[in-house]
Amino acid sequence: MTKRLLIIEDDEFLQELIDRVAKEMGFETQSIRSLSPDCVGLLESDPDLVLLDLKIPGADGVEVLRAFAEHQFHSPIVLMSGVDTRTLKAARRIGCEHGLNMADTLTKPFGRRKLQATLHSALSMSNMIGPDDLERGIDRGELRLVYQPKRCSKTNRPVGVESLVRWHHPRLGVLAPLRFIGMAEESGLMYRLTDWVLETALRQLKEWELAGIQLTMAINVSSTNLRNPGFPDRCSELVTELELQDPRLILEVTERRAITLDLLTTEVLARLRLRNIELSVDDCGTGFSSLRLLKRLPFSELKIDRSFVKDIVRDRDAWLITRAIVELGHALGLRVVAEGVEDDDTESVLREFGCDQLQGYSIALPMGADCVPAWWASVCDTPASPSNSGSGRVANC
Ligand code: C2E
Ligand code: CA
Ligand code: CA
Repeated sequence: MTKRLLIIEDDEFLQELIDRVAKEMGFETQSIRSLSPDCVGLLESDPDLVLLDLKIPGADGVEVLRAFAEHQFHSPIVLMSGVDTRTLKAARRIGCEHGLNMADTLTKPFGRRKLQATLHSALSMSNMIGPDDLERGIDRGELRLVYQPKRCSKTNRPVGVESLVRWHHPRLGVLAPLRFIGMAEESGLMYRLTDWVLETALRQLKEWELAGIQLTMAINVSSTNLRNPGFPDRCSELVTELELQDPRLILEVTERRAITLDLLTTEVLARLRLRNIELSVDDCGTGFSSLRLLKRLPFSELKIDRSFVKDIVRDRDAWLITRAIVELGHALGLRVVAEGVEDDDTESVLREFGCDQLQGYSIALPMGADCVPAWWASVCDTPASPSNSGSGRVANC
């Protein structure tokens, strides 16, 4: 897709140079040599990138930045100037404080190569997404769930799925959760996102249940959800409304961020357990949970992190740590799941350790809801023996 560049520069020579270089790079350009402080009309062309000279007849760059901010302009801005670097940096800071996407600065004079490099890196920032985009994405139904199955290591039967969110962004394509989960947390959008995931996943579970497909549903929740006193009721409301058979819902809480023992979190966890909702320590082994915490909080499952599982065949430390987590989990009366299982040898080692459930690319890839019935049928048709684990492994659609 052609990118639009708005050039705000009064120096004719420089303006022509930028115009030429940008067009060679595939930009569509629009140039302006003077402006009024009320320069908002410029934004109507919705440029993907703006090059703004700090000193331009009719207005100074700082006024222009303020006007851009008032109109919530989100595209990256590169500031140019021949004034000293400190002034340029100060102007950039002002832009940042206004919440603008200040991509870079260009100190004059600059040559072709410097300009190309700056345009290139600033453009990659135009792929950046903000909380407003995500909120709009949720409203417009751009989020989808894929489901990754888990199997029982002893019988090889399917036991459940984990829901993983994807954002089908109209401009950037399918975005993985790591591109937007952190932002959702920081911007307070995690409540909305989790609520959407919870409701979508549970409605899906009900549909499968009605089709005779009995699975548990794991969803990933963030620590902010666990500080929301309304969360347990919302979960049980949905379980009741859908008349789901209990216990069908598992909430995975990552250990990468501290699972705290603050009173509110402990209360929310306890109230979830009282409602028959299971709790799993995700990414176990990577984080901050102390053993005491594992004992005191009402978790029912440990999910060993992929970084250990993927190396157990080759790396002695990974082998030892994984085995220790399985033993610890069992000693505490918890179910133990291994994630990131990618080959038969890893599966065999995990079975030897007595790990209860397996998940990973060698078990099944994450798949759309419509592929689950076919996967279910293919694994239920095979004899319940781990030696047949190859069957039904790839549900690639
Ligand atoms: P996670 O919960 O640890 O999820 C497992 C991630 O590993 C998924 O990536 C999955 O596609 C990938 N994976 C599964 N099996 C294998 C394997 O055998 N090998 C390898 N190399 N990778 C495997 P994904 O979907 O990109 O999710 C990344 C993380 O995003 C998740 O890590 C989870 O922490 C977070 N996430 C996903 N969906 C949600 C959600 O709805 N809410 C929240 N709060 N977080 C979510
Ligand atoms: Ca997870
Ligand atoms: Ca994990």
